[in-house]
Amino acid sequence: MAGGIGIFGGTFNPIHLGHLRGAEEVREALALDEVRFVPAAAPPHRRGVALAAATDRHRMVELAVADVPGFRSWDVELQRPGPSYSVDTMRALRAEVGPAVRIAFVIGFDAFREFETWKEHATLFTLCDVVVMTRPPWPQRLGAEEIPLAAREAFRYDSSSEVFLHESGHVLNLQRITSLDISATAIRARVAANRSIRFLVSGTVERYIAEHRLYRQEDAAR
Ligand code: ATP
Repeated sequence: MAGGIGIFGGTFNPIHLGHLRGAEEVREALALDEVRFVPAAAPPHRRGVALAAATDRHRMVELAVADVPGFRSWDVELQRPGPSYSVDTMRALRAEVGPAVRIAFVIGFDAFREFETWKEHATLFTLCDVVVMTRPPWPQRLGAEEIPLAAREAFRYDSSSEVFLHESGHVLNLQRITSLDISATAIRARVAANRSIRFLVSGTVERYIAEHRLYRQEDAAR
Protein backbone atom coordinates (compact mmCIF):
# COMPACT_ATOMS: atom_id res chain seq x y z
CA MET A 1 0.00 0.00 0.00
CA ALA A 2 1.46 3.37 -0.97
CA GLY A 3 0.68 6.79 0.43
CA GLY A 4 -0.34 7.80 3.90
CA ILE A 5 1.05 9.71 6.83
CA GLY A 6 4.02 8.92 9.03
CA ILE A 7 3.94 10.15 12.62
CA PHE A 8 7.33 10.52 14.19
CA GLY A 9 7.14 11.52 17.83
CA GLY A 10 10.07 12.38 20.02
CA THR A 11 11.51 14.64 22.63
CA PHE A 12 13.68 16.21 19.90
CA ASN A 13 15.96 17.74 22.53
CA PRO A 14 17.34 18.65 19.97
CA ILE A 15 16.27 17.13 16.63
CA HIS A 16 19.37 15.71 14.89
CA LEU A 17 20.45 14.11 11.61
CA GLY A 18 19.77 10.59 12.97
CA HIS A 19 16.09 11.53 13.24
CA LEU A 20 15.99 13.20 9.84
CA ARG A 21 17.77 10.49 7.88
CA GLY A 22 15.72 7.74 9.55
CA ALA A 23 12.46 9.50 8.73
CA GLU A 24 13.59 10.03 5.15
CA GLU A 25 14.35 6.34 4.68
CA VAL A 26 11.00 5.32 6.19
CA ARG A 27 9.16 7.89 4.05
CA GLU A 28 10.79 6.52 0.93
CA ALA A 29 10.44 2.82 1.81
CA LEU A 30 6.72 3.15 2.61
CA ALA A 31 6.04 5.74 -0.12
CA LEU A 32 4.42 7.98 2.49
CA ASP A 33 2.90 11.27 1.38
CA GLU A 34 4.27 13.01 4.42
CA VAL A 35 6.02 12.51 7.73
CA ARG A 36 4.85 14.69 10.61
CA PHE A 37 7.40 15.31 13.36
CA VAL A 38 5.60 15.62 16.69
CA PRO A 39 7.61 17.05 19.58
CA ALA A 40 6.34 15.92 22.97
CA ALA A 41 5.43 18.92 25.11
CA ALA A 42 5.73 17.07 28.39
CA PRO A 43 7.35 13.70 27.69
CA PRO A 44 6.13 11.22 30.34
CA HIS A 45 9.44 9.31 30.18
CA ARG A 46 11.86 12.21 30.44
CA ARG A 47 11.52 13.50 33.97
CA GLY A 48 14.89 14.59 35.37
CA VAL A 49 16.56 15.04 31.98
CA ALA A 50 17.68 18.57 31.05
CA LEU A 51 14.89 19.51 28.72
CA ALA A 52 14.78 22.62 26.56
CA ALA A 53 11.43 24.43 26.55
CA ALA A 54 8.82 22.78 24.34
CA THR A 55 8.64 25.94 22.24
CA ASP A 56 12.41 25.80 21.58
CA ARG A 57 12.28 22.10 20.69
CA HIS A 58 9.34 22.68 18.39
CA ARG A 59 11.05 25.67 16.72
CA MET A 60 14.15 23.54 16.08
CA VAL A 61 11.96 20.86 14.47
CA GLU A 62 10.39 23.56 12.28
CA LEU A 63 13.83 24.80 11.23
CA ALA A 64 15.12 21.28 10.54
CA VAL A 65 12.19 20.27 8.30
CA ALA A 66 11.73 23.63 6.56
CA ASP A 67 11.90 23.15 2.79
CA VAL A 68 12.27 19.36 3.10
CA PRO A 69 9.71 17.81 0.73
CA GLY A 70 7.32 15.51 2.54
CA PHE A 71 8.38 16.61 6.04
CA ARG A 72 6.38 18.85 8.34
CA SER A 73 6.28 19.68 12.02
CA TRP A 74 3.08 19.20 13.97
CA ASP A 75 2.56 20.94 17.30
CA VAL A 76 -0.52 18.96 18.35
CA GLU A 77 1.07 17.86 21.64
CA LEU A 78 2.00 21.44 22.51
CA GLN A 79 -1.64 22.42 22.19
CA ARG A 80 -2.74 19.76 24.67
CA PRO A 81 -2.35 20.22 28.43
CA GLY A 82 -0.80 17.49 30.56
CA PRO A 83 1.62 14.70 29.62
CA SER A 84 2.04 13.94 25.90
CA TYR A 85 0.71 10.50 25.09
CA SER A 86 1.11 9.12 21.56
CA VAL A 87 -2.17 7.26 21.77
CA ASP A 88 -4.02 10.58 22.21
CA THR A 89 -2.22 12.05 19.20
CA MET A 90 -3.07 8.99 17.14
CA ARG A 91 -6.75 9.15 18.11
CA ALA A 92 -6.82 12.83 17.09
CA LEU A 93 -5.22 12.06 13.73
CA ARG A 94 -7.55 9.10 13.06
CA ALA A 95 -10.52 11.34 13.78
CA GLU A 96 -9.08 13.90 11.35
CA VAL A 97 -8.30 11.62 8.39
CA GLY A 98 -10.83 8.79 8.83
CA PRO A 99 -10.28 5.03 8.82
CA ALA A 100 -9.08 4.55 5.23
CA VAL A 101 -5.85 6.56 5.28
CA ARG A 102 -2.72 4.62 6.20
CA ILE A 103 -0.97 6.00 9.26
CA ALA A 104 2.47 4.69 10.22
CA PHE A 105 3.77 5.38 13.69
CA VAL A 106 7.56 5.63 13.42
CA ILE A 107 9.71 4.72 16.41
CA GLY A 108 13.35 3.78 17.03
CA PHE A 109 14.27 0.32 18.33
CA ASP A 110 15.42 1.67 21.70
CA ALA A 111 12.13 3.48 22.28
CA PHE A 112 10.13 0.44 21.11
CA ARG A 113 11.89 -1.61 23.78
CA GLU A 114 10.20 0.61 26.37
CA PHE A 115 6.84 0.53 24.61
CA GLU A 116 5.38 -1.63 27.37
CA THR A 117 5.49 1.39 29.71
CA TRP A 118 3.52 3.62 27.31
CA LYS A 119 -0.09 4.53 28.00
CA GLU A 120 -2.51 2.21 26.17
CA HIS A 121 0.26 0.84 23.99
CA ALA A 122 -1.83 -2.17 22.95
CA THR A 123 -4.49 0.23 21.66
CA LEU A 124 -1.99 2.05 19.48
CA PHE A 125 -1.57 -1.11 17.36
CA THR A 126 -5.32 -1.04 16.62
CA LEU A 127 -5.14 2.53 15.31
CA CYS A 128 -2.17 2.47 12.92
CA ASP A 129 0.80 0.59 11.51
CA VAL A 130 3.99 0.69 13.57
CA VAL A 131 7.40 0.95 11.93
CA VAL A 132 10.41 0.26 14.13
CA MET A 133 13.67 1.77 12.84
CA THR A 134 16.95 0.02 13.50
CA ARG A 135 19.26 1.97 15.78
CA PRO A 136 22.73 0.99 16.89
CA PRO A 137 23.53 -0.95 19.04
CA TRP A 138 20.14 -2.70 18.98
CA PRO A 139 19.52 -5.82 16.83
CA GLN A 140 18.76 -5.90 13.11
CA ARG A 141 15.75 -8.14 13.52
CA LEU A 142 12.45 -7.82 15.33
CA GLY A 143 11.39 -10.90 17.29
CA ALA A 144 7.97 -11.61 18.76
CA GLU A 145 9.58 -11.23 22.19
CA GLU A 146 10.01 -7.51 21.45
CA ILE A 147 6.23 -7.04 21.20
CA PRO A 148 4.72 -6.00 24.54
CA LEU A 149 3.01 -8.93 26.23
CA ALA A 150 -0.38 -7.21 26.35
CA ALA A 151 -0.40 -6.99 22.55
CA ARG A 152 1.53 -10.11 21.49
CA GLU A 153 -1.44 -12.44 21.07
CA ALA A 154 -3.07 -10.04 18.62
CA PHE A 155 -0.19 -10.51 16.16
CA ARG A 156 0.76 -13.23 13.69
CA TYR A 157 4.10 -13.27 11.87
CA ASP A 158 4.15 -13.41 8.09
CA SER A 159 7.57 -14.75 7.16
CA SER A 160 7.29 -13.99 3.44
CA SER A 161 6.89 -10.25 4.03
CA GLU A 162 8.73 -10.24 7.40
CA VAL A 163 5.92 -8.30 9.07
CA PHE A 164 3.75 -8.93 12.09
CA LEU A 165 0.07 -8.75 11.14
CA HIS A 166 -2.29 -7.40 13.77
CA GLU A 167 -5.85 -8.70 14.04
CA SER A 168 -7.05 -5.13 13.33
CA GLY A 169 -5.43 -5.34 9.89
CA HIS A 170 -2.49 -3.09 10.78
CA VAL A 171 1.13 -4.19 10.56
CA LEU A 172 4.24 -3.97 12.68
CA ASN A 173 7.59 -4.23 10.98
CA LEU A 174 11.26 -3.39 11.23
CA GLN A 175 12.72 -0.85 8.84
CA ARG A 176 16.46 -1.22 8.37
CA ILE A 177 17.96 2.25 8.02
CA THR A 178 21.45 3.62 7.62
CA SER A 179 23.07 3.31 11.04
CA LEU A 180 23.85 6.73 12.43
CA ASP A 181 24.95 6.51 16.02
CA ILE A 182 23.81 10.02 16.89
CA SER A 183 21.91 10.85 20.07
CA ALA A 184 20.52 14.06 21.51
CA THR A 185 22.21 13.21 24.81
CA ALA A 186 25.66 13.22 23.16
CA ILE A 187 24.83 16.46 21.35
CA ARG A 188 23.81 18.19 24.60
CA ALA A 189 27.03 16.97 26.23
CA ARG A 190 29.06 18.40 23.36
CA VAL A 191 27.36 21.79 23.61
CA ALA A 192 27.90 21.87 27.38
CA ALA A 193 31.59 21.09 26.80
CA ASN A 194 31.82 23.79 24.12
CA ARG A 195 32.54 21.24 21.38
CA SER A 196 31.34 21.25 17.78
CA ILE A 197 27.96 19.74 16.80
CA ARG A 198 28.32 20.60 13.12
CA PHE A 199 27.06 17.76 10.83
CA LEU A 200 25.22 16.16 13.76
CA VAL A 201 22.35 18.63 13.44
CA SER A 202 21.23 20.87 10.57
CA GLY A 203 23.02 24.22 10.22
CA THR A 204 19.81 26.01 11.17
CA VAL A 205 19.47 24.01 14.39
CA GLU A 206 23.15 24.49 15.19
CA ARG A 207 22.66 28.26 14.90
CA TYR A 208 19.45 28.22 16.96
CA ILE A 209 21.18 26.37 19.81
CA ALA A 210 24.07 28.87 19.76
CA GLU A 211 21.86 31.95 19.53
CA HIS A 212 19.55 30.84 22.33
CA ARG A 213 22.40 29.49 24.44
CA LEU A 214 20.65 26.14 24.89
CA TYR A 215 22.33 23.21 26.65
CA ARG A 216 25.21 25.31 27.97
CA GLN A 217 24.90 24.15 31.55
CA GLU A 218 26.84 21.11 32.74
CA ASP A 219 23.57 19.44 33.76
CA ALA A 220 22.43 19.60 30.13
CA ALA A 221 24.89 16.79 29.45
CA ARG A 222 22.59 14.27 31.08
P1 ATP B 1 18.11 11.30 23.98
O1 ATP B 1 19.56 11.04 23.70
O2 ATP B 1 17.85 12.62 24.66
O3 ATP B 1 17.44 10.14 24.66
P2 ATP B 1 17.36 10.65 21.24
O4 ATP B 1 18.56 10.99 20.42
O5 ATP B 1 17.12 9.20 21.54
O6 ATP B 1 17.35 11.51 22.57
P3 ATP B 1 14.53 11.21 20.89
O7 ATP B 1 13.95 12.54 20.59
O8 ATP B 1 14.35 10.65 22.23
O9 ATP B 1 16.12 11.31 20.52
O10 ATP B 1 14.10 10.18 19.79
C1 ATP B 1 12.88 10.22 19.09
C2 ATP B 1 12.75 8.94 18.31
O11 ATP B 1 13.81 8.84 17.35
C3 ATP B 1 12.84 7.68 19.17
O12 ATP B 1 11.89 6.75 18.66
C4 ATP B 1 14.26 7.19 18.94
O13 ATP B 1 14.36 5.82 19.08
C5 ATP B 1 14.51 7.61 17.50
N1 ATP B 1 15.92 7.90 17.22
C6 ATP B 1 16.68 8.86 17.79
N2 ATP B 1 17.92 8.86 17.30
C7 ATP B 1 17.97 7.87 16.38
C8 ATP B 1 19.03 7.35 15.52
N3 ATP B 1 20.28 7.87 15.54
N4 ATP B 1 18.72 6.32 14.69
C9 ATP B 1 17.45 5.79 14.69
N5 ATP B 1 16.44 6.23 15.48
C10 ATP B 1 16.68 7.25 16.31
